[in-house]
Amino acid sequence: MTIIGIDLGTTNSGIAYLKDGKPVIIENDRGERTTPSVFQINHRGEIQVGTVAKQGYPSYPKETVLEVKRLMGTDEKVVVAGNQYRPEEISAHILSYLKKSAEKFLGTSVTEAVITVPAYFSDSQRKATQKAGEIAGLRVERIINEPTAAAIAFGMNQLEKDQHILVYDLGGGTFDVSVVELFSGVLEVKSSAGDNRLGGMDFDNLLVDWLIQRYKDEHGVDLFSFGTADEILQRKARIKAEAENVKKSLSTQNSAKFNLPFIAIHNNGPISIDMEITRSEFERVIRKLADSTFEQVDKALKDAKLTESDINEVILIGGSTRVPLIQELVEKKFGKVPRKDINPDEAVALGAAVQGGIKSGQIDSLKGLMVIDVCPYTLGVDVVKNVGGQLLPGFFDPIIKRNSPVPITESQIYTTIKDNQDEVVMGVYQQSNNESPYVNPELKISKEDIRVPGIPLRPAGIEKIEVKFTYDINGKVSIEATVLSTGKKINKELDLQTGVMSEYEVAAAREKISQEWNQSELYDEVKNVINRAEKVMDEANDQERAKIEMLLTNLKKSLSENNVANVKKYEDELTDLLIELV
Ligand code: AMP
Repeated sequence: MTIIGIDLGTTNSGIAYLKDGKPVIIENDRGERTTPSVFQINHRGEIQVGTVAKQGYPSYPKETVLEVKRLMGTDEKVVVAGNQYRPEEISAHILSYLKKSAEKFLGTSVTEAVITVPAYFSDSQRKATQKAGEIAGLRVERIINEPTAAAIAFGMNQLEKDQHILVYDLGGGTFDVSVVELFSGVLEVKSSAGDNRLGGMDFDNLLVDWLIQRYKDEHGVDLFSFGTADEILQRKARIKAEAENVKKSLSTQNSAKFNLPFIAIHNNGPISIDMEITRSEFERVIRKLADSTFEQVDKALKDAKLTESDINEVILIGGSTRVPLIQELVEKKFGKVPRKDINPDEAVALGAAVQGGIKSGQIDSLKGLMVIDVCPYTLGVDVVKNVGGQLLPGFFDPIIKRNSPVPITESQIYTTIKDNQDEVVMGVYQQSNNESPYVNPELKISKEDIRVPGIPLRPAGIEKIEVKFTYDINGKVSIEATVLSTGKKINKELDLQTGVMSEYEVAAAREKISQEWNQSELYDEVKNVINRAEKVMDEANDQERAKIEMLLTNLKKSLSENNVANVKKYEDELTDLLIELV
């Protein structure tokens, strides 16, 4: 059974599989090697994923979803064509499309995948990704980090060479950096750092701000300040799409133009934009963001206890590393030209496919490639401390330290702080820096605290509670707390988390998503008849029009009810009627 590798990106996704021991990209049903991570569903239930959806975005912003990866692991809802979705459901739609494409390409059913996530994804973001896979009908037993996947794709062919590699991964919505050591067939991640809310989209947004400001300076008009909410939304969508085009052009040209004819009507006159921006102006606009990525690079180097000169190869992945300024800054920092022979759009999916091969046994991890990754965060609990005789809550106590190799289990022992204390309650936190002694409420990763009741009533400090954290190879956390005097244990999978669906919700979503695809495929089958009928209706007489209209209404109603038998019935009747009339 083939386990496919999926790079589920913020802007683009890719799929690959292992063929004769080598990872190979799977083309989607349009023959493309990557698929825009864009989902669209119209009021007729017709689904589009990928290029068609992306192209349709400026015209149908309310029916289109971009960048859903940024919402993974949150409870935020996405409204598409008037319906509410969870981020996992939108991702599941994208994954369903990729699964279908892979099945078509391989000619067999695909039920399991290795999906990649930014190294810096939290526990709930990872779980949300896994659940999205399940909703799409894919078993996802392995989640791997994107830079690690890229290093695997790169390292596969040079396993025997001992070297340090730095992977700089700037995608559409996330930035990751990993320092990796390759030695005797082992690929060991030494450290990871990043920012899961920084990417090429932020460059686009800065360009939009630049354009709006320039227009305001030159014409005294704020392009987002007039018109209906829908008009503004559409205008924003068009400007954003154009900003991305301009940005991409500036990767190869010294200047580029925003070309937006009839973007708005203001004071009864049409507004068209034809404005030039030079590459150096663009670089000035994005410079701060570009620089901020190097703070993370420094952090990763420091954690790996290495300096720039210890790095033998720098690999650039993620579409945004095509920006010349990024390449220049990386080159300057390391004093060497980054590797250009790795396709930044494909490396992650290829590495995921190799990991799929290791999992399915197609690649022997002992003889071939062994991958060791790290936990990018420090994980711990909040504790009460005795400060100058006063008990103060809110201190962070680390249990698993940042950049520990995974899987890992670590424990700490805590004592009661009050006489006759019969319960201990602790929140679970992740910290990206080890500096602060206090917990940051925003970094609490458990909705429910660890609650250990039933502690024997003794004087303060006598009873001991051991708290054990396990971080598995997929980056998932489980916790065990033991009252040492009684041996009583509390086990906790962090499953009751904000932004993570329950099993019940996943099952319901799977049903919903598969129904929506059935409906879309059904619509696809009858789309031609509907289009023809609507055309014929325009030229028909009243009597004919009434007949067509009745069948069309019935057909559309059956479609919305997903009633296959009735759809077929009305489709046949309508086809017969059209043949009769034409
Ligand atoms: P990824 O998530 O790795 O697919 O990266 C997608 C991001 O790369 C998007 O923000 C794209 O706009 C950006 N991108 C793709 N091609 C280019 C290019 N030629 N120049 C600049 N940015 C690009």
